[in-house]
Amino acid sequence: MFTSLREKQKHFFYTGQTKEYAFRKKQLERLKEAIQTNEAELLEALKLDLNKTNEEAFLTELGPTYQEINHTLKHLKEWMEPEKVKTPASHVGSVGKIHYEPYGVALIIAPWNYPLQLALSPLVGAISAGNCAIVKPSELTPHTSKAIAKLLDQTFDEAFVKTVEGAVDVSQALLKEPFDYIFFTGSVGVGKIVMEAASKNLTPITLELGGKSPAIVHEDAKLDLAAKRIAWGKFLNAGQTCVAPDYVLVHERVYPAFLKKVKKHTKALFDKALLKGTYPQVVSGRHLERLAGFLSDGQVELGGQYNKESRTLTPTILTEVNWEASIMQEEIFGPILPIFTYQSLDEVLDKVRDKANPLALYVFTENKKVEALITENLSFGGGCINDTVMHLATPYLPFGGVGESGTGAYHGVESFRTFSHRKSILKQSTKVDLPLRYKQGKLTMKVLRK
Ligand code: NAD
Repeated sequence: MFTSLREKQKHFFYTGQTKEYAFRKKQLERLKEAIQTNEAELLEALKLDLNKTNEEAFLTELGPTYQEINHTLKHLKEWMEPEKVKTPASHVGSVGKIHYEPYGVALIIAPWNYPLQLALSPLVGAISAGNCAIVKPSELTPHTSKAIAKLLDQTFDEAFVKTVEGAVDVSQALLKEPFDYIFFTGSVGVGKIVMEAASKNLTPITLELGGKSPAIVHEDAKLDLAAKRIAWGKFLNAGQTCVAPDYVLVHERVYPAFLKKVKKHTKALFDKALLKGTYPQVVSGRHLERLAGFLSDGQVELGGQYNKESRTLTPTILTEVNWEASIMQEEIFGPILPIFTYQSLDEVLDKVRDKANPLALYVFTENKKVEALITENLSFGGGCINDTVMHLATPYLPFGGVGESGTGAYHGVESFRTFSHRKSILKQSTKVDLPLRYKQGKLTMKVLRK
């Protein structure tokens, strides 16, 4: 179904144009210009799909995309330089270099929660590394999908970049094609399908998945700040953020004070939007039903009101949740925050290890030893000490998961590297030809042993 499109892009790739620095730079500038020109339309689409306000959409969708483009434009030339490496004594006279080479035609499959940013940021990486790309946005945010298609169609020839809109059937038809790279953002379940499809063609992949990301609040934490930053990171975008704190583990000694503060901050941060009707929507009726089902898994301390028509669920805090309850068996991905207590840090390690490696982890403490104990003994994609979500918003930190939360990383230089093959080339001198290398005698062994 998509063979001719992929082949068309491959032919264009073979012309070598995408490899030129000037070409890449021009295309990134054009992408930026196109987003700027279409800003109003993109913001409108995000409002229609998820009820995002212009401010929130700018902060979490357009802003990070601009930032990714600007950072790439600033550094691309230096990233593209072949990297000179050392050579051992046995290679005297030669020079080793790593060349960053584009894979060819990349497939980018995006989710619905940040439907614009998560389609366009990987595209910035693909273009910067010199690839052609096919972008498949999520069908669950149809207005944004259409706006992305329009934007990319206006800006690029389809032999270079093309949007393919559609649902699971379209995604699966694309996955049958032997792409040169696949970049997938979405759920763990679909990540497994993508990996299996990629294995048929031995296509290299990045999987940006999700998981249950804990926030740990130790007894010495600055409680007010911890409560505020957790409430913000959790309830932003109605909890539909891959790195949102999924649940909180708080030391039992500070639990009552923390609970009070997290309720206070949640209200302070989101009540106004709820009143004005500008709090983001849950993406679909089916997703809202799933979330509503979790409300009986504990005691509702705050929120818990939902409206099927407006597809909203108010920021909800749950306590008295059983670790075995259904809400703790899957990523919540909505505005419900269960809070648990702990007595010792060993208990924290056990509880977090009990679940698959999370995409993010947040620890709130003033003690460096606690910081180290948590960050060094638990496996997770990335995270913050005394904050939530912000690690994802800097182009200087690679962003990605580990194990069940994903494989590979991107943002900044890591996006360029992700979409590049590291080709090692050794250039040998023709001026000298050491006889030693042809001999398997004692001297060769001595050199190698050194
Ligand atoms: P999803 O896996 O349902 O869908 C993602 C994409 O895959 C969509 O474009 C969809 O059309 C396609 N798809 C769905 N089912 C498919 C199938 N059976 N075969 C082939 N393609 C299929 O994910 P979602 O619901 O859109 O997004 C939510 C998930 O994404 C959460 O788990 C969240 O944590 C994760 N996520 C991760 C990141 C990250 O950067 N790591 C970012 C955002 C979201």
